Amino acid sequence: MNNSPLRVLTVPTSPYADQRPGTNGLRRKVHVFQSRRNYLHNFIQSIFSSIDLRDRQGSTVVVGGDGRFFNQTAIEVIVQMAAANGVGRLIVGHHGLMSTPACSCVIRKFKAIGGIILTASHNPAGPDGDLGIKFNTANGGPANDAVTNKIYQISRTIEEFAICPGLRLDLTTVGKQTFDLENKFKPFIVEIVDAVESYANLMRNIFDFAALKELLSGENHITIRLDAMHGVVGPYVKRILCEELGCPANSAVNCVPMEDFGGQRPDPSLIYAADLVDSMRDGEPDFGAAFDGDGDRNMILGKHGLFVSPSDSVAIIADNIFCIPYFQHRGVRGFARSMPTSAALDRVAKATKIELYETPTGWKFFGNLMDAGGDHIREKDGLWAALAWLSILATRRQSVEDILKYHWLKYGRNYFTRYDYENIDIDAACEMMEDLEIMIADKSFVKRRFAVEDKIYQVEMADNFEYTDPVDSSITRNQGLRINFSDGSRIIYRLSGTSSGGATVRIYLESYEKEHVFEETQVVLSPLATIAIKISQLHHRTGRTGPSVIT
Ligand code: ZN
Repeated sequence: MNNSPLRVLTVPTSPYADQRPGTNGLRRKVHVFQSRRNYLHNFIQSIFSSIDLRDRQGSTVVVGGDGRFFNQTAIEVIVQMAAANGVGRLIVGHHGLMSTPACSCVIRKFKAIGGIILTASHNPAGPDGDLGIKFNTANGGPANDAVTNKIYQISRTIEEFAICPGLRLDLTTVGKQTFDLENKFKPFIVEIVDAVESYANLMRNIFDFAALKELLSGENHITIRLDAMHGVVGPYVKRILCEELGCPANSAVNCVPMEDFGGQRPDPSLIYAADLVDSMRDGEPDFGAAFDGDGDRNMILGKHGLFVSPSDSVAIIADNIFCIPYFQHRGVRGFARSMPTSAALDRVAKATKIELYETPTGWKFFGNLMDAGGDHIREKDGLWAALAWLSILATRRQSVEDILKYHWLKYGRNYFTRYDYENIDIDAACEMMEDLEIMIADKSFVKRRFAVEDKIYQVEMADNFEYTDPVDSSITRNQGLRINFSDGSRIIYRLSGTSSGGATVRIYLESYEKEHVFEETQVVLSPLATIAIKISQLHHRTGRTGPSVIT
């Protein structure tokens, strides 16, 4: 407790025009936050001002981040501003760390009105890297459009912010710290919490830890290798997998969170997690997984580095959902996947007669569905998905490869790939999307046939995907141009801007094969890729000869 009450200051500021939060919050280069005066303060004040004063006074708010460069600096400012804005209690992760899924769990556990998460997911970190600020609401999920619009509107006219500049926090010690503020009767409370333990507790209530322990450290145990990529998930992996479930210490690598993620991009893909793939290729491990910076994504591997595509991974978890005790007891009321994710999950939903929801990209759309009582599979919790896979291995006692092949033989295979064209001239990209939308909106586009080599694809449906939330009826438009063909194949185009000025065009290609399920993905999808490029004239318009990344 400080001796004299801390001063609350009101500081004049001027607005910025570009603080509209995207699907992933406000994501900018670190130097934008560092060099533009009050850029961080303005946005944080806009978040607090968006909450009605009556709800804000004395409320609880959660703060945490993925540990990237500027994480701690930003947290210090947020704490000082929360105190000055009437928040009664802040729940902050130890050392300022909290994975995105854990933040969601902690918001619910402490009945907070929301949480501020500092992350830019799998984007690079460091002085030249990115930082993002996300605001999640009381349901634990990302704020909906109404809330983010309100934040944006406030940010455009902001004139001042409130702050307690003298407030100094100790992030290194778990426990309660209290601060007396000028003109306030009640002290401001900060609780530094062990978010890893809160999250582990949630997992204990979902999975059969005894069975997992037997799988991972019993007499006939399998070996696994987990790569936390120096993101925030490392301590969760260590606590849950190593300490509690008995995996040897050397089965978890890169588990110390670092400000620059060790100089690597914390992206759990074949490209950026190549070390894990290489180490598994000639090695013993039966199962491997890598996690992104903030822990909502993962990559699943089988023995010798066998890659399980994210779409297949979700579908296989769904097909085996009753290997998980939580769902045995509670049942499953629906599956949800984002629109560009392959339709592999749809086939499981159809076979099991469980409802499927197709939502826009972004975890926020799952929040409403989950709140509405459907325990939908969460597409976005990397460690949860790894534990789900281990539960399947524990129940079925088969290899990842056998499980994958069995799944394809049972349901057929949705071949799926994504082409990313990065740093495209933004005008060329916008023009391409506009022309494409006009073209596919024309009635004559449906039924059109495209032939490449001996394959013929006929358009069945084409649109600009929009989503009506089944719970609150809100409509989200412009989620990507999609062309569905009569054989179940799909081409999807999405455009996203980046902070560095260029645009990224993503083309998702998907082809369904009932019988030929053991072919090479890129070979199967090559005719469709040719069509996608031809329809959009992407190469011609941008001068590119191929994608920057194929995943
Ligand atoms: Zn992420």
